[in-house]
Amino acid sequence: MEKLSRRSFLLGSALVGAGLGANVLAGCSSSPAAGSSQPASDNSAADAPAAKGAVSERTWDRETDVLVCGFGAAGAACAIEAATNGAEVLLVEKGSLPGGSMCRSGGGMAGAGTTMQKDAGIEDSADAFYDWIMLATDGLCPSDIARVYADNSAANLDWLDELCVKETGEHLFLSELTDDTARIGINRRGVPFASFGLTEDEVVPRSHWAVMKEGSTASNAGPELFYPLLLTVEGSDKIAVEYETALSSLITDEEGAVLGAVIKKGNAEETVRARNGVMLATGGFPNSEEMRKNFCFDTMGRISYMNPLCTGDGVKAAMAVGADLANTCQSYIMPDETSYTATFNEEWQDIFPMWLQAPDDPNKLVAEAPIIAETHGGVVIDTDSHVLNVWGQPIPNLYAAGCDVGSNIFGKSGNYPGCGSYVGFAICFGRIAGENLAGAVQPEGGK
Ligand SMILES: Cc1cc2nc3c(=O)[nH]c(=O)nc-3n(C[C@H](O)[C@H](O)[C@H](O)COP(=O)(O)OP(=O)(O)OC[C@H]3O[C@@H](n4cnc5c(N)ncnc54)[C@H](O)[C@@H]3O)c2cc1C
Repeated sequence: MEKLSRRSFLLGSALVGAGLGANVLAGCSSSPAAGSSQPASDNSAADAPAAKGAVSERTWDRETDVLVCGFGAAGAACAIEAATNGAEVLLVEKGSLPGGSMCRSGGGMAGAGTTMQKDAGIEDSADAFYDWIMLATDGLCPSDIARVYADNSAANLDWLDELCVKETGEHLFLSELTDDTARIGINRRGVPFASFGLTEDEVVPRSHWAVMKEGSTASNAGPELFYPLLLTVEGSDKIAVEYETALSSLITDEEGAVLGAVIKKGNAEETVRARNGVMLATGGFPNSEEMRKNFCFDTMGRISYMNPLCTGDGVKAAMAVGADLANTCQSYIMPDETSYTATFNEEWQDIFPMWLQAPDDPNKLVAEAPIIAETHGGVVIDTDSHVLNVWGQPIPNLYAAGCDVGSNIFGKSGNYPGCGSYVGFAICFGRIAGENLAGAVQPEGGK
């Protein structure tokens, strides 16, 4: 895979930023948004009431078709799909670098009936995958969400592999059955078959691992898995990326339809009119002490190895406009005594964010026990990725995917269909949101 130097990466960012300037509406200002009282804090979404007002009454600092919040798994997939379907996208990322938790992940993505499985002689189907997810979640995860996830999983893995071939000339995944302890090829790593009274042979290998460069001794291929998404976003003339820019709050009209959002860069706030809608992809609340205390008390006192910037901003912004929540008290916590160590290839140093790195090695992630990984709580979506309100109706023009979503394929704490489920889920509903946000499928009651 071609190495992206820091210089070429920063140059790419600068050009993207310059392109964004052209999208800014004439007469716009970077002064605080009218009617907004955002404090300068990382958790600003919590403090911010949603600004309301008819679209004609407001002045906007910027306009775009689609505003995507968060440049991790779900946000990248959404932005690419929206742009591919013709929309102009503004992608805002709170951090200074892309990739979210996905770029630090093990590099696995789950799917059934993929080209890679077929080439490796593994027989599988969406139906079998669906059955397994329902079993692994004790039948508690929403069956329609599990159905859509299972049905799209092969296409999503093939899509990511094709993006990689297009951008780098090389395949992302190997068509090879491997040992279940490996993070390469296709296997059953992390699949809790024994808990369900099954033997290994009764569960199909579905975790597909991103290929690392030859001879690599790194343990995690998250950067490799994210890289095709990064290159595709950077190569799109329809996607403008703004780093160190965070979603603060959503702006709705009198009927509660989302018109846009307040975003914040440093202390400067701007209002963005999102003509088609807003996407929440801010990675849940694994690093919000406040939300874990309120929703998921069992996780208190644990270190999260997830992206430290994932502090529930998208979930809180959605709550402020009436979104329903699910699974708020569920999470993926590791056994009390388990620490986590991961190593990454050096070439990703300046491209993706580093955190929890070992003092002696900047390419190493070390999290001491006890650990919480994902929080499973978040907003409720339907199968079109629309965010639903507490009465089960779509909030017009508001979409979400990934760890901001509580109506997911994980259900109660401890349930986990196997490695690659989180990225697979985020990419699946991120792509669906992007397609809908572009207007390819009009949401009922939306726009
Ligand atoms: C060590 C490790 C190993 C893992 N291994 C695997 C694996 O092998 N397979 C798997 O499926 N999953 C794995 N995961 C989990 C997986 O990476 C995450 O569940 C997945 O990345 C979640 O996707 P997301 O889009 O919801 O969030 P993320 O990928 O975390 O992206 C969220 C982004 O939103 C940004 N953000 C936050 N707030 C705001 C705001 N207000 N405005 C704008 N941007 C904001 C964040 O900075 C971040 O970049 C692993 C995670 C870790 C940490």
